[in-house]
Amino acid sequence: MDAVSSKRILIVEDENDVVDLLTLNLRKAGGFLISKAGDGATGLTKARAEKPDFIILDLMLPKIPGLEVCKILKSEAATRHIPILMLTARAEEIDRVVGLECGADDYVTKPFSPREIVLRIKAILRRGATEEADDRLSAGPITIDPARHEVLVNGKRVELTSLEFKLLRTLMQRRGRVQERDRLLNEVWGYESVIDTRTVDTHVRRLREKLGRAGEVVETVRGFGYRVREK
Ligand code: CA
Repeated sequence: MDAVSSKRILIVEDENDVVDLLTLNLRKAGGFLISKAGDGATGLTKARAEKPDFIILDLMLPKIPGLEVCKILKSEAATRHIPILMLTARAEEIDRVVGLECGADDYVTKPFSPREIVLRIKAILRRGATEEADDRLSAGPITIDPARHEVLVNGKRVELTSLEFKLLRTLMQRRGRVQERDRLLNEVWGYESVIDTRTVDTHVRRLREKLGRAGEVVETVRGFGYRVREK
């Protein structure tokens, strides 16, 4: 793959062995141009200046913590579209990453399998590439404008992470039909192998909270998955 079609990845991580492991495996996978930052402040500067296609961001960083860097990048118009994969040291931190609404697109717990991380990065990049503009969708008080990447509830804009947006859009496109958790994982997250389906539950919960009362249109179908109500 040449430099033009290569994806530019920024790795923000202070642990050299983790950076080396990621670099090695991304090089092996091919098609990636790698840039590095050893602390949160440099990560922020490089992300703004280089506008990479993808950011791998560690949670524990000198100067500015990863969650803060993520929140800042996701709040700025120039960088909010860049997918971010968070690295967390402990499984307990996952809830903080998801719960604090830093807007990360995915997360991986250390120690991670380099192969898995490369697969996830490719899945997220693929997901971004297929987010073509299509027609407006609506269900009850909710309207989605895919072209503008906008979700409105009773005409009022609701801020969703890119993952929550994709999840809601997928459910609304298949309105009235039950979507199984592993199918959602596959299509929304892009995972080829089934990982923990509770990931889906966590995100549906966050999505409902953000939609407020309108969140009722997303129904749980016990033992199966989720569905957006027909009426
Ligand atoms: Ca670290």
